[in-house]
Amino acid sequence: MNKGKNTKLFLHLKKWLEKAVLDYKMIEEGDRLLIGVSGGADSFALLDLLDSPMVFVPRFSFIAVNIDMGFDPDYVAYSQLEKYLQENNYHYIMEKTDIGLLAHSDYNKKNPCFLCSRLRRKRIFEIADAEGCNKIAFAHHRDDIIETLLINMFYGREISTMMPNQSIFDGKLHIIRPLAYLKEELVKKYNRERQFPAAKNCCPTSLTSKRVYVKNLLNDLERDNKEIRENIYKAMSHVKPDYLLPPKKK
Ligand code: SF4
Repeated sequence: MNKGKNTKLFLHLKKWLEKAVLDYKMIEEGDRLLIGVSGGADSFALLDLLDSPMVFVPRFSFIAVNIDMGFDPDYVAYSQLEKYLQENNYHYIMEKTDIGLLAHSDYNKKNPCFLCSRLRRKRIFEIADAEGCNKIAFAHHRDDIIETLLINMFYGREISTMMPNQSIFDGKLHIIRPLAYLKEELVKKYNRERQFPAAKNCCPTSLTSKRVYVKNLLNDLERDNKEIRENIYKAMSHVKPDYLLPPKKK
């Protein structure tokens, strides 16, 4: 679908998406991608940008996959997403699950996100295998990468983040993040420009998660220092191991 794909914003996002894909060797000739589509703004942008004629990125094929978490009993967002995928002739799989409800059940109330993402990811890996996909593309953007670094430090006692191109299962599968260079505000702006039928997250934890806490914290810090996100992002490629504590012996 090329309608609306010649705006300044589209060309900017496309340029930086291609640069991230090339810098991190995310896509190779003949790859088959599973594109994770949650129905949120970021995933619509990812699908739309990857479904555009590429200048430098090698040819690849893809399938869009949605795992419904079971939060929306009327499946309104689910139906809107399916209509969009059908109208735009996407090859897709949509699966209804109760993963979200299971993750919020009484025995797991303390940390729903852990089980939720684990079960969703497991299902995505299974679908990737069944569909012959060697890469899984997620819509995590630059702000997600920055926030994850802080979440892992604050709550996981480690310095790590989401990698733009991560090899798993001995290299049989790769998780790629083509939006790694794109700022969240521009991705959301593109969503408004294209009027994707993005749905709000119905998960009860989505307003109180650690990610939301860290996002708000960064917004507060940004009022004093506009460069704060940029500085954290750059710091991840400027690590001085000699000025860190030595790794703990096991
Ligand atoms: S915020 Fe909700 S949907 Fe997202 S990982 Fe946590 S439990 Fe799952």
